[in-house]
Amino acid sequence: MTIAYLNDTFLPLDEARIPAMDRGFLFGDGVYEVFAAYDGKLFGGEQHFLRLENSLKSLRLISPWDKNKLEAIIHELIVKNGSGNQMIYLQITRGPAEKRMLSFPKTATPTLFAYATPFEAPSIEQSSKGIKAITLENTRWRQCRTKAITLLANVLLRQEAADAGCDEAILIEDDHAVEGTSSNLFIVKNNQIFTPALNNHLLGGVTRELLLDICRKEKLDLHEAPITIEQLHQADEIWLTGTTREISPVVELNKKLVANGKSGPMWHTMINHYQHYREALLRE
Ligand code: PMP
Repeated sequence: MTIAYLNDTFLPLDEARIPAMDRGFLFGDGVYEVFAAYDGKLFGGEQHFLRLENSLKSLRLISPWDKNKLEAIIHELIVKNGSGNQMIYLQITRGPAEKRMLSFPKTATPTLFAYATPFEAPSIEQSSKGIKAITLENTRWRQCRTKAITLLANVLLRQEAADAGCDEAILIEDDHAVEGTSSNLFIVKNNQIFTPALNNHLLGGVTRELLLDICRKEKLDLHEAPITIEQLHQADEIWLTGTTREISPVVELNKKLVANGKSGPMWHTMINHYQHYREALLRE
């Protein structure tokens, strides 16, 4: 039985109930985070909490739960759900209001909902098989830097990818590849690594940030630069990154093989570094 946390109570997930007038339900007026814990220890917690703080700020949502309180709740959720490797989902909405109106209500108490569930960290062997992706037009709003629960465009795009037999969609805007529906984009060309710089068209991924750190420390040739559709199609390697997927090599794009259709040498270098860095950070 999965244990969740709602406002100030731990309870079985299937007993968690949200009032119908919650602005999260009515408008998608809220933010979220997805954390991973390995062996019961939160990974990249500081970066996730910083992003959460920034997302809350951009919604002008004042959270009654500070970082210490959230950390304590997450740790308790991890323990209550059996420790080991866990995915932790956490969302804060503006809460239930008396009237349905777009502008902020004068009095609303935010809602905090979180749960943890075991997740299988992808093995190198499993990940190396790679995933299929398609390119789709980025139909999302212009505040993608905010991790808002308003994910309808992402839902529709991801379903379109699934309907095409793909695992992820790479979103295109003004002839440039931006990111995936729930992942950041990297490409490799002639041993150089490229990822789009942060702006309002994409989410600042915690995994992305870790890869940038690794590139700096390992002196890999990394460029935060725009990626044109042409560069995407001519890439030697394409990777999509995220907290639970870690680094997925894309081996097929729009039904065509990426290079020779196998995870590339740079991906193998990067995933090995990534796993070492993760282990080192968790030991700290
Ligand atoms: N971009 C989007 C749109 C996402 O939803 C996610 C996953 N939260 C990411 C990128 C990757 O972020 P992270 O590495 O922090 O999981």
